[in-house]
Amino acid sequence: MIESPKKPACLAKSGVRVRFAPSPTGFLHIGSARTVLFNWLFAKQQDGKFILRIEDTDIERSEPRFEHDIIEGMKWLGLDWDEGIDIGGEYGPYRQSERLDIYEKYLRQLIDENKAYYCFCSKEQLEGDRQAMLAQGLAPKYSGRCRHLLREESEKRIAEGESAVIRFKTPETEIEFNDLIRGKIKVNTALIGDIVIARSLRSPLFVFSGAVDDFEMKITHVIRGEDHISNTPKQILIQKVLGFDELKYAHLPLILSSDRSKMSKRFLDTALADYRKQGYLPEAIVNFLALLGWHPKDEKEIFSPEELIKEFDIKRIQKAGAIFNLEKLEWLNAQYIRKLNQENLMEKIKEFIPPEWGSEENKELLIKAIAAEKERMRTLADFKKLADFFFELPDYEPKLLAWPRLTNEAEIDKEKTLANLKILIEEINKVFKADFNKENLEESIMSLTEIWGRGELLWPLRAALSGRETSPGPFKIMEVLGKEETLRRLNIAIEKLS
Ligand code: GLU
Repeated sequence: MIESPKKPACLAKSGVRVRFAPSPTGFLHIGSARTVLFNWLFAKQQDGKFILRIEDTDIERSEPRFEHDIIEGMKWLGLDWDEGIDIGGEYGPYRQSERLDIYEKYLRQLIDENKAYYCFCSKEQLEGDRQAMLAQGLAPKYSGRCRHLLREESEKRIAEGESAVIRFKTPETEIEFNDLIRGKIKVNTALIGDIVIARSLRSPLFVFSGAVDDFEMKITHVIRGEDHISNTPKQILIQKVLGFDELKYAHLPLILSSDRSKMSKRFLDTALADYRKQGYLPEAIVNFLALLGWHPKDEKEIFSPEELIKEFDIKRIQKAGAIFNLEKLEWLNAQYIRKLNQENLMEKIKEFIPPEWGSEENKELLIKAIAAEKERMRTLADFKKLADFFFELPDYEPKLLAWPRLTNEAEIDKEKTLANLKILIEEINKVFKADFNKENLEESIMSLTEIWGRGELLWPLRAALSGRETSPGPFKIMEVLGKEETLRRLNIAIEKLS
C-alpha cells in the first residue's frame, strides 16, 4: 500500500477547531473583529469549526452589554460561529462563568499534586519585592515567598478567612513553540516566575481558564493578537503540567495608527460599533480587515467573503505591525456602496437620514437623490451631508450666486446675475415637464452658454439650485428636483438679488 504524504496539521481538512475567546470587558474592538475574521476564514477554509467562547470570569469588569455588543458585531459582519453562546454545542456551556466546576476541578488537582499553591502575599509585599528586584537590575517576578508553605498551614489560613490567590509553580525550563506566523519562539520560563492563575478556586484568571477550555473544547489552533504572545508559554506550561495535548498558535500582528503608534482611541475609533454608526458597510469592513496584516498573492483589493475563504493563507500573514489606513477603508466602503442596488442602498441609507426624507411622499426624490450622490458617498452617513439641499434649500448669501467667484470684499454684479438667471428661467420653462431630464436640459442650456458664457450661466444656476459651494452639476440637480422645484429655487435667487 502506498502511503499518502502526511499533510501538516494546519492544512488537514476537518478536525480543525478554532475559537474567538473575548473577555466582555469592553465593546468589540475593531482589532478583535480582525481576530474573529481570521479565525472564521481559517475554519471555513479548513472545513473546521469556529467556536465563540465568552471569557467572563472577571466578574467585576465583565458586563452583559459588552457580551451583547460582541455578539451583535459578529452577526453584523456575517461571521457566524458553529458552537458557542447563543447556539450551544457539544462542549458547552460556552460562557466561562458557567464552567466554574471544571476549573475548580483542575485547580484542586494542581494544588493536590503540589503544582500550584496558595499565596498570601499582600499587595504591599509584592510591590516591595518588585522594587527590590528592579533595584538589583533584575526583571521582576514573584519572589516565591509562599511557594514552600505547608499545605495544612495554607488550608488553615484559608479556613480562617485570610485572603489568598492561587499561584502556578512555574517549572524552570525552556518552552519552544512554532508560531504559524512568527516561526520558532523560545522562552526561558525561569523569567516568568510563579504566576497567579486564580483568585480563588471559583475565580480563575483567563490565562488558566482559557488553557483549560482550549483542551476541554478540543481546540486545535489558537489564532489571536500578538498582545497575547507572552501568555502563550504560560498556557503551554499549564497544559503540559495537566497533561493536555499541544495546540498550534498563530499570533496576529498588532494594528498600528498611521504614525506607527499602537492604534488608540486618541487617533481613531476603536470600537467596531463606531464604524457601523458612521455608515460603513459590513462587507467593506470584512474586506478591509482581511487586508490588515494579510496579503493576497496578487494586487487584488476587493474580495467577497467567498473569495477570501478561497485565497486566505495563514502563511501570508505578516509579522510586522499592520497600519490601519482609514482612507483605504473609506475607499473600499465607497466601492461597496456603488455595488449596492437602488433598493438595498435606499434601505440602508434610511437609518442615516431624517425620517421625513424617507417618507412615501419623498420616495421619488430620495431615489433620485441617491442616484445623484451614490458616486460621491464614502459612507452611508455622507449622504445626509451631501444630499440635504435636495430636501431643503439651505439659506445662502446672495454673493454665492456671483460669477466669477468673489473675494469677500468684492461686490456682486447683481444686474448681470439677475439677467442671466432670467435667461435661464425662460429657457427652462421651455422644457416640458415630461422631458425634464439631464440630457434635454443640458442640450438646451449648453447652447445658451455659447452666447452668454459658461461660468456666467452655469455657476449661478448650480448655486441657486443647491445653495452650496459644491454639489453635483446643475443638470443632474434639476432632474432630481423636477421642473417646479427648479423654477421655485431660481425665483428665490432672483428675490435675493432684487
Ligand atoms: N479572553 C482573553 C482576551 O479577550 C483571551 C483571548 C485568547 O486567548 O484568545 O483577551
